[in-house]
Amino acid sequence: MSSMTQAKEPLPQDKQAAIRYEAALLKEHPWIAPPLLRKRIDTVMNENSGTTSKRRKLYQIIDEASAAIYPNSACRGVGCSHCCKTSVMIRQAEADAIGKKIGRTARKVALRDPEKIKGLAFDEKYAGSACPFLVDEKCSVYDVRPYVCRQAHSLNASPDQCDTSKVKASDSCVIHFDLTHLEFAMSHVCGASGDALGDIREFFPTLHTI
Ligand code: SF4
Ligand code: SF4
Repeated sequence: MSSMTQAKEPLPQDKQAAIRYEAALLKEHPWIAPPLLRKRIDTVMNENSGTTSKRRKLYQIIDEASAAIYPNSACRGVGCSHCCKTSVMIRQAEADAIGKKIGRTARKVALRDPEKIKGLAFDEKYAGSACPFLVDEKCSVYDVRPYVCRQAHSLNASPDQCDTSKVKASDSCVIHFDLTHLEFAMSHVCGASGDALGDIREFFPTLHTI
């Protein structure tokens, strides 16, 4: 066996940033570690309560998680909104909540097979197209923004991978903290109430001008 050791390739910058951000996050907020977060989510899911109450509690968890992630991410202080200029997949109940807030009725979107949604290639279709609720680069429905917006973050070295004017949507590689269990729970709660999933612009077609 050779005693020579091979020089290790340096990790890409984005990966290095993600490792740093994640370590800092877990040190400052140990409760966010996936097994602990999972316990908290499971407590909500096992409660004997309705879907509206569960969704509200899951929103609360994601908001707390996002507040913890934000200072340990590429989102920190840059004030960018690239993530509002791509496909924004939301549920009917979330669209209805926005509709109530702005005094409009959200369109009813038909239930679709998740496999068919993938085939619609929304990421490409809406790349560079601003969400109709993005006003002066700020969210105009912030307090009722959907789950997908609450959990948006990037652990990359910079926001570049979020910017579809720089990186093609299908090539973009945004690194996220592991919130899989929260996403499953949210999807389960919305699925249980029969909510259709669609791009935000489908629910508000008359507001979508780009
Ligand atoms: S997710 Fe990306 S686009 Fe959105 S705020 Fe963070 S860095 Fe900016
Ligand atoms: S609802 Fe608000 S946060 Fe979400 S994509 Fe639209 S403008 Fe951005």
